[in-house]
Amino acid sequence: MKIIEKIDELRLSLAPLTYQKTEKQPYKTIGFVPTMGALHEGHISLIEEAKTKSDFVICSIFVNPLQFNNTGDFTNYPISLEKDIKMLEKAGCDLLFLPNSDTMYQNSVRTKMIFEELDSVMEGTHREGHFSGVGIVVAKLFNIVQPNHAFFGQKDLQQFAIIQQMVNDLSFPIQLHCCPIKREEDGLAMSSRNRRLDEDQRTIAPKIYESLILTKKMLKKDQTIKKAQQSGLSHLQKYKEFKTEYLEIVDATTLQPLDSELDIKKLDKKIKIAVCVATKLGEIRLIDNILID
Ligand code: AMP
Repeated sequence: MKIIEKIDELRLSLAPLTYQKTEKQPYKTIGFVPTMGALHEGHISLIEEAKTKSDFVICSIFVNPLQFNNTGDFTNYPISLEKDIKMLEKAGCDLLFLPNSDTMYQNSVRTKMIFEELDSVMEGTHREGHFSGVGIVVAKLFNIVQPNHAFFGQKDLQQFAIIQQMVNDLSFPIQLHCCPIKREEDGLAMSSRNRRLDEDQRTIAPKIYESLILTKKMLKKDQTIKKAQQSGLSHLQKYKEFKTEYLEIVDATTLQPLDSELDIKKLDKKIKIAVCVATKLGEIRLIDNILID
């Protein structure tokens, strides 16, 4: 696997791949997986999916300071570069783009992105400026890598909706793919932040997924949105360690919360529902979601 740190070097290295030389030597399609490192099986599943849809797979590792609204979360973000490189090599990734902050943000960034109602809910309200930072780094990486396909996890459902909106609004010629959430055996969604959990926190962390399953069950039993939401929240409230920020039942495409008095039976069958949760265990903030057909 090639490792490249500089933008010019990356562009130079990719140019021969994306240039169609002859009929017999057509250009190669590029699949791109942006990450912040501290890789786990969830990230690797994106690389594997990218390999099925593209000829050349690029992963980036960059802990983007612009998307952190909490300095502690940024400075304590786990780093495991050597292990990451081994995992990427084993997964058959072709190239790792590994820029540092100076490379990505030579000049201070003055651009801001707003996504209207898409970022006025859930993560957007609890992490001010987060999605502007995500939008800027992803747009920059798209311009640098110029992939044909880009792969993101459903784990960050709101992020996916926002990037899809940005790709449509700004006409990036990139096909996005939303890949399923990889979980530990006990249901906990894999996350780089999980490795910061202490033993006790790790023991109760699967309750987050349980709360989603419970909410889904209540919805399947035709309870109102409010009752289903309450049951999910109460499950977390049993454990004083959780400081829950939200558990929302939303339209999975628009991300807008469904009317709390709504009787699920009356909902348009075509609407895909998602239950999304964000909660803190000590200083560690975890998110998860589940889709309901
Ligand atoms: P991150 O490094 O946390 O920014 O994540 C990089 C990409 O991996 C994002 O598109 C995430 O949604 C995705 N991802 C993170 N955790 C998981 C998981 N458990 N399963 C699948 N994809 C994930």
